Amino acid sequence: MTASPDIRDVIILGSGPAGLTAATYAARANLKPLLIYGQQPGGQLTTTTTIENFPGFPEGIDGNELMQRFEAQAQRFGAAFLQGQVTRVEVGCCPFRLWLGEDQLSCRSLIIATGASPRMLGLPNEWDLYGRGVSVCATCDGFFYRDKEVVIVGGGDTAMEEASFLTRFARQVTVVHRRDSLRASPPLQRRARDNEKITFRWNSEIAAILGDKTGGVTGVRIRNLENAREDDLACDGLFIAIGHHPNTELFKGQLDMDKEGFLVTRNFTETNIPGVFAAGDVQDPHFRQAITAAGTGAMAALQAQRYLEELNDRQKLCARQCVQS
Ligand code: NAP
Repeated sequence: MTASPDIRDVIILGSGPAGLTAATYAARANLKPLLIYGQQPGGQLTTTTTIENFPGFPEGIDGNELMQRFEAQAQRFGAAFLQGQVTRVEVGCCPFRLWLGEDQLSCRSLIIATGASPRMLGLPNEWDLYGRGVSVCATCDGFFYRDKEVVIVGGGDTAMEEASFLTRFARQVTVVHRRDSLRASPPLQRRARDNEKITFRWNSEIAAILGDKTGGVTGVRIRNLENAREDDLACDGLFIAIGHHPNTELFKGQLDMDKEGFLVTRNFTETNIPGVFAAGDVQDPHFRQAITAAGTGAMAALQAQRYLEELNDRQKLCARQCVQS
């Protein structure tokens, strides 16, 4: 049995390393995958600086360029691409159905690679000041802070990488971290600690963002977590680099998730629904690397291929077909 022409064999959600690798593998298996880009075409790597640890690029490679290469490779094998964001999903029975606004698509297997989005501090005015001094992307916005003072919050790889990057523009970069040691890997820590434009405020958090919509950010109130003392630091920008949360809102109540919302996978990339696979940061609270995301993208496509072959052998459209009304 082959699916009706309106029912795709594979739809892939997300265009980061996981989604694009899945597209290459599925296209090479002649499954004619359709990839829907999602809210951030190219994924998180498009907002980073040079990627220095992706194998095959000993000199490093720009994040945008790497993702363009991923996409060109998937395109070369015939993957189809659609701009837009899925607004609703039904995976309770098959064919699985997806909506992009009013438009509906259906598929026999689905690969979810919707990635993760930056976590925010939860301060009352952070969204009012977003784009007016508050940023989650130094690569995107660093340029606007030439000779200015900026604060960055977080102690992980992203915070250290962004702090170092910001010193290309800013006069002074202050890192505010809630503990007295960094989570970042040793080379990134070293680079930041050795940079004389970067100073650290340890055991501290941002208690308030100062400023308003008209004038933008004018400073931050920093609270020392050891003695609860607060002081105001004048600055022009606040970069938030405190990690990410998985983009799984669409699948709530349909797919198994852990307490932080990451999709739970078993047997590599299988979700609790046969025919639905998950790859990359959306199912990975541990590694969150471009290379591991790409690896799980390949696995998801291979597992989708096997799933479809088994259905074809049994002359079935899908594992659990929707009852026609
Ligand atoms: P992360 O490793 O989860 O680090 C988040 C940092 O923010 C931690 O230092 C954490 O503090 C702090 N934090 C979390 N919630 C906070 C809150 N509410 N208020 C204040 N601080 C808070 O996230 P990441 O740095 O974005 O890195 C994510 C993944 O990408 C990691 O696996 C990392 O290795 C990888 N990455 C790699 C590179 C590279 O290799 N070049 C570059 C960027 C990212 P605690 O330390 O106290 O928990």
